[in-house]
Amino acid sequence: MATECVFCRIVRGESPAGVVYRDEHVVAFHDVAPQAPVHVLVIPRKHVASVLELEEADDAAVLAIHGAIRQVAHLTGIARTGFRVVTNCGPDGHQTVFHLHYHVLGGRRLGWPPG
Ligand code: AMP
Repeated sequence: MATECVFCRIVRGESPAGVVYRDEHVVAFHDVAPQAPVHVLVIPRKHVASVLELEEADDAAVLAIHGAIRQVAHLTGIARTGFRVVTNCGPDGHQTVFHLHYHVLGGRRLGWPPG
């Protein structure tokens, strides 16, 4: 856990968040600046900076993240209409929070390719 990490504070319950799903490995909560009608972030409880930092020991968390994405899709009503899962990595990927997170976006027709 990183003391100063904003997402670690959410995991510890020290910062408010609109949590939609949580389990042993992950927490999922509404993005504070939504880019679509549904915009949920799925994060591992463990502090991992980005997808580049994942190790084999994180396999269970990676599997749980995918389970959580499915749960979020059903709980928010976008499973039927479709959605996008994005993880930004590094400067070109426009990553701004350095705790691994997966954006789950839906509720409108999304553009492609991304900007
Ligand atoms: P990224 O640019 O991929 O690193 O995305 C970081 C995301 O975290 C952005 O969409 C922010 O709006 C979101 N965010 C930052 N702080 C919070 C917070 N305290 N609660 C919820 N979402 C946040």
